[in-house]
Amino acid sequence: MLTNDQLSQWDRDNFFHPSTHLAQFARGEAPNRIVTGGEGVFIQDRDGNRLLDAFAGLYCVNVGYGRPEIAEAIAKQAHELAYYHSYVGHGTEASITLAKMIMDRAPAHMSKVYFGLSGSDANETNIKLIWYYNNILGRPEKKKIISRWRGYHGSGLMTGSLTGLELFHKKFDLPLAQVLHTEAPYYLRRQDPAMSEEAFSADCARKLEELILSEGPDTIAAFIGEPALGTGGLVPPPAGYWAAIQAVLEKYDILLVADEVVTGFGRLGSMFGSDHYGLKPDLITIAKGLTSAYAPLSGSIVSDRMWQVLMQGTDENGPIGHGWTYSAHPIGAAAGVANLNLVDSLGLVENAGQTGARFKALMQDAVGTHSHVAEVRGEGLLMAVEFAEDPAARIQFDPAQGMGAKVAAALLKRGVIARAMPQGDIIGFAPPLCITENECAFVVSAMKDAVSEVFGD
Ligand code: PMP
Repeated sequence: MLTNDQLSQWDRDNFFHPSTHLAQFARGEAPNRIVTGGEGVFIQDRDGNRLLDAFAGLYCVNVGYGRPEIAEAIAKQAHELAYYHSYVGHGTEASITLAKMIMDRAPAHMSKVYFGLSGSDANETNIKLIWYYNNILGRPEKKKIISRWRGYHGSGLMTGSLTGLELFHKKFDLPLAQVLHTEAPYYLRRQDPAMSEEAFSADCARKLEELILSEGPDTIAAFIGEPALGTGGLVPPPAGYWAAIQAVLEKYDILLVADEVVTGFGRLGSMFGSDHYGLKPDLITIAKGLTSAYAPLSGSIVSDRMWQVLMQGTDENGPIGHGWTYSAHPIGAAAGVANLNLVDSLGLVENAGQTGARFKALMQDAVGTHSHVAEVRGEGLLMAVEFAEDPAARIQFDPAQGMGAKVAAALLKRGVIARAMPQGDIIGFAPPLCITENECAFVVSAMKDAVSEVFGD
């Protein structure tokens, strides 16, 4: 058996970790954690720590860790048929069943699901389908995609461009020219403190319309957004936001992509964020909660209106020239079927709504009135606590102080994993959807102590 020291050294010598400070990690200045197991909302590491994972990995382990139903479904599929492709009409019982289960849950105007492996590749698929669609309709100029600052849509060339976070662009020569960004629906950070939520939403829609008009509506193909902002700060939309945005998109015949990689399959307390906030998208991106990350799998759900045009395209051009070797991978599909069955049988969508509301109320009581807490916000089991130097005067902490990271470290000492979000002093909570009220109370009590430790009472 390898010692922890040996493994740790191999890790630093060989493993290129994503989203990691490479130099600090190589020099041994940043910790490594070797995770060995998990059950329910807890994970264990090789140092013997048992930690409550209040971010469900990367908000993906929605049914919690250690579910034998999914492990057994994966093992059975691997024994029977580990792989076959899904090109030219091939499929497996698992992939066909999962497609049916997804479409049974998706909004009624959606038609088909295209399977991928990650949220990023599903969004790449979406953009290619949008371009194909407009080419078939004889609109070759209508190609630009509008995303929001603080949106997160992946790390590929196109999807990293759509992502509206500086760190994902800087030194990568991104964003690509076809991508534009508009205002984030981040009411707390509005410029005019006197503005109501509705007025702020109308202002976001006005800025979107201005951008469309300045570029030329005939050049704008689509708008992409998460129903509630995720990695960019965990921000539910302000009142009236999606209605105002959709009115503008409709006016200029611009497609809507709802990126539901985080919000799909229950996180907000509804099956989809689109149901929750009244979006009528042309494409829906799904990943994480589709398999609860027991195996990699994603999907692009296509509306009927797009599907009709895509079919016309293949009548004119032959089979669609877009496919991944691992599309609809049988093991991922088997995991997805078992996972969605668990989501139903455990009532996790309802639990996300009810326990989420309780979690937020407890958090608000515990830290909401602290002098450095600017806001406790959330919807379902997606919640954030944002800190500021002086919330009333709207003065942020100097980012160099890393206050958010300090709170996350103080939580970790108390056995709770939460995420210091990448842009601002924001602590994110997105636990498995099976979390209980008692477990939420434990997280809240750890947060109260962590806040006192970092900021004083
Ligand atoms: N879209 C959203 C909304 C996401 O949160 C993420 C990942 N956090 C992605 C896309 C990209 O997914 P992946 O990391 O699986 O490529």
